[in-house]
Amino acid sequence: MSNLSLMLAEHASQTLFSAHTVLNGLHDVVTEQKPQTEDEFKSFVASESAHRLILDKISVNPIIDVATFVGLDGHVLNFTRSYPPPPINLSDRDYFLAHRTNPGPAAYTSLPVQNKGTGSWVFYISRRVDNSRGEMLGLVLVGISVKVFSEIYEKVSKDLGAGASISLYRDDFMLLTRWPFSEELVGKQNLTSATHRVVAEEGKTNDVIFTDIARLTVGNVPQARIAAPRRVDRYPFIVTPVISEEHYLHGWREMLWWILGLAVLSLTLLFWGILGLLKGNHRVEQELVERKLAQERFEHLAHHDLLTSLPNRRLFSDQLQRCIATCARRPIHCGLIFLDVDNFKEINDTQGHDQGDLLLQEVGRRLLACVREEDTVARVGGDEFAILLNKLDSESNLAAARAKAIADKITSALAIPFYIGGVRYHTTVSIGMTLFGMTTSSVEELFKHADIAMYHAKSAGKNMHQFFDAKMQLKVEERSALVGAMRQAVASGDFALHYQPLIRAPGTLIGAEALLRWSAEGGRSVSPAVFIPLAEQTGLIKPLGNFVLETACSTLARWSGMADMAQLTLAVNVSSQQFKMPDFVDTVLGALRRTGARADRLKLELTESILAHDLPNVQDKMSLLRRHGVTFSLDDFGTGYSSLSYLRELSIDQLKIDQSFVRDVMDDPNQATIVRAITNLGISLGMDVIAEGVETQAQMAFLLSINCQSFQGFLFSRPLPLEDFERFAVDTVHGVTQFPTPRPVDKSPKIECILEH
Ligand code: C2E
Ligand code: MG
Ligand code: MG
Repeated sequence: MSNLSLMLAEHASQTLFSAHTVLNGLHDVVTEQKPQTEDEFKSFVASESAHRLILDKISVNPIIDVATFVGLDGHVLNFTRSYPPPPINLSDRDYFLAHRTNPGPAAYTSLPVQNKGTGSWVFYISRRVDNSRGEMLGLVLVGISVKVFSEIYEKVSKDLGAGASISLYRDDFMLLTRWPFSEELVGKQNLTSATHRVVAEEGKTNDVIFTDIARLTVGNVPQARIAAPRRVDRYPFIVTPVISEEHYLHGWREMLWWILGLAVLSLTLLFWGILGLLKGNHRVEQELVERKLAQERFEHLAHHDLLTSLPNRRLFSDQLQRCIATCARRPIHCGLIFLDVDNFKEINDTQGHDQGDLLLQEVGRRLLACVREEDTVARVGGDEFAILLNKLDSESNLAAARAKAIADKITSALAIPFYIGGVRYHTTVSIGMTLFGMTTSSVEELFKHADIAMYHAKSAGKNMHQFFDAKMQLKVEERSALVGAMRQAVASGDFALHYQPLIRAPGTLIGAEALLRWSAEGGRSVSPAVFIPLAEQTGLIKPLGNFVLETACSTLARWSGMADMAQLTLAVNVSSQQFKMPDFVDTVLGALRRTGARADRLKLELTESILAHDLPNVQDKMSLLRRHGVTFSLDDFGTGYSSLSYLRELSIDQLKIDQSFVRDVMDDPNQATIVRAITNLGISLGMDVIAEGVETQAQMAFLLSINCQSFQGFLFSRPLPLEDFERFAVDTVHGVTQFPTPRPVDKSPKIECILEH
């Protein structure tokens, strides 16, 4: 009984949550306009666009019977039944009077009333709209048909035997509805019931008790009953299932008779008695198993949606709460998706509720197929689903991109027509998303954000998704446009290599670094620092990396036939995703073979992040390539993990001092110390040391003074297209290009001071 009441209370709580979401949504839309006077309020809520708004809000929520805006004088200003509304005055209704006398925006639940036209019973939940001074301007209210509750009570009651009932009370013990329905009891307060005894007199939130108020009689004998009143979580309601004592004790009585029989038997015949006892044990065990199963069934019902078997709002909120707690401890972003089936009401109205139910079940199944195992899909309202995206990424932009990818997948999965009972349906969904990370947020706040985002998606034309955070939305859209353009550019070969000279003191050109260039639509050049990470995240790094290797090797092959160029090395950047690919070694060797380039002229620039994982595998790949003559340079040294152990274990030919250290070498003694330390380290390990980002003579002079002999930077040349680079190389060899001669370093007092360090 306790589980049954828990399940019923959960159903009520879910239903009311859904209705309150609509009510609060309408209240938010009106208060966002900040009306100050009665006229301002009227002119907004009485408009035709407000009518469309309320129609739209209720169309997605089949439990809402009507939504209404009421003016300060009690007149209906707008409602969903017709536009413009007929003259109806509600100033004598309990909710109107309650709000008039109680300031503040708290929601009020009305008495149930019978609609004279349709005969159906409805109760209202309402909120007062105030101006900034707290003066009342009017009301917003939504009506909920009691059928939403009585239909499910009827289904559940079937299994509860004769004399069972289920009642839903407001927390002042006003009966809102009941199964079996009783017109004489509904709408009346009952202060003598078992519900009143448990909740008001004993002050409990739930209990299972015998009730001596025996209305039920069998053959004129009053029957005692068992009642399980329970307060509904978060809302001022109480639900009470009642069953007859006879039904409740049926199983127990059966067992009691059986135990008595067994005792008699065991006294008269020991042997058969023992045997009987064994059987008895078996029977008791079976009974226990059955009870446990029933208990589990109830537990499942209390935490899952009856129609789709997906987790319900209660379970989902618990999981969301746990996820928020995890995020507060670890640097990880998770996401919440709120999803609403567009035009669901239309399908329900035109095809019937059974078809609507089947559609929702199928939507649930498709959603499950779109998410990862660690994610949770729940049904949280009529046609509303929520998805918890667990552990998306530690970086918010990437987390947003992942959430967007899942939303895209959902949109496409639901765009495939549904075949239900042989009929083809087409439906779309509106999706609102919000991300959360270490900054604390609450379940309510996240639901609200995702709901607002979903509402934006709906009002922007449905069948789309929207982030709660506008900046995030913009970033995600830009990223996705860039990925699209890059994919196109890879296919149409819009990338090129530029070559930046590498110089050894006093002025010898020793080679070049190949740097990828992309001029996107309209001649806009996009930096590799932007598109390389994107290419890594989207898998486009493979075709791009292959293009770079292939082009660089053809260039080397071409240079081998040119007298002034044959001795030059060409450095190629390798990203970590590219290096990790199992066929990386084959790809490099294949490019060398196809083009006929000399392997000892090819230098691969690796970053520290590549070396930080799976060292044995990295070692294998490097030594395979080294066997053919390929050399290695460690790029951007000092910015990554900078573990000295891999320098010892891997044979690296060159250290490249990152440009960020070189940039400030003249102004920041710490940077100068780092550059000196890296140079000493490289030289003592027998490596060549090259400084990138050399822009001034002073920087070069300092580098020379600490014995760094190789340079790359704008001081010598920017990266050049192939033809320009070749001209540059020829001019250098023939002495046409004069490199700047550095001023002697020890003339500068600032540098002297650095060197003294
Ligand atoms: P990186 O490998 O460290 O390349 C050096 C970067 O420094 C280049 O930027 C170059 O133009 C820039 N640079 C050179 N001298 C100077 C200077 O004196 N001052 C300043 N301020 N900058 C200088 P770029 O071409 O924008 O490339 C940025 C990064 O993108 C590269 O850094 C590299 O990590 C990546 N990248 C470029 N091409 C490729 C490629 O083909 N494959 C891969 N995986 N990554 C690439
Ligand atoms: Mg590089
Ligand atoms: Mg670099």
